[in-house]
Amino acid sequence: MINIAIDGPSGAGKSTIAKKAAAKLGYIYIDTGAMYRTVGLYLNRLGINIKAEKEKVINSLSGINIDIKYENGEQHIFLNGEDVSSLIRTPEISMAASDSGTVLEIREKMTHLQRNLAKNNNCIMDGRDIGTFVLPDADVKIFLTADVRVRAERRYRELAEKGEQVKFEDVLSGMVLRDKNDSTREFMPLKKADDAILIDTSDLSLDESVDAVIKCIGDRIK
Ligand code: C5P
Repeated sequence: MINIAIDGPSGAGKSTIAKKAAAKLGYIYIDTGAMYRTVGLYLNRLGINIKAEKEKVINSLSGINIDIKYENGEQHIFLNGEDVSSLIRTPEISMAASDSGTVLEIREKMTHLQRNLAKNNNCIMDGRDIGTFVLPDADVKIFLTADVRVRAERRYRELAEKGEQVKFEDVLSGMVLRDKNDSTREFMPLKKADDAILIDTSDLSLDESVDAVIKCIGDRIK
């Protein structure tokens, strides 16, 4: 199976770019952030404070069953049989996902799920620790990044288009906080793998970014 790892901070365009590149290559796209978001949603619903109540978090993990299915190439994520794909895209769940990512037991459960998917499918998998930890032998590793203000603007526009009432400053501060959370956490922090190719999308349009990623993959997979 061919496995492509794309890592990078929030809002670098990973999911949009990876989805388009996967469609062009005929691979499946695996959004691992959605998995952490789903765990965050589950814990939020239980009213668990992820940072303060580690014991409760760990005890509740056996009640989480995550499934990924594809409809017309779109990834749908199911939490105990319920399609939660759109419920996980709120700022509140973004933060719960980031907090969930700091818990080792959650990371182990997600890693297991992700490696199984990669074993059975040609895929582009995006996340934070794919090239460094989940798929260290991936055929191609890309680290996609962009300036934090540019990333916050993109996320702000995305939320505004969906009709979410948010302030730009809140989106920006949420992104700065998540960057810090993701890159300084104890287990499997966001980090560029030594053998990953760095692509900065700050000055690239979406189409240019997709082309850069596809070219990078094409150059390495013959
Ligand atoms: O990519 P997305 O913004 O949807 O990810 C949500 C959160 O899930 C991230 O802020 C990060 O903390 C966590 N995450 C992670 N490891 C991954 C993917 C996401 O810790 N592989």
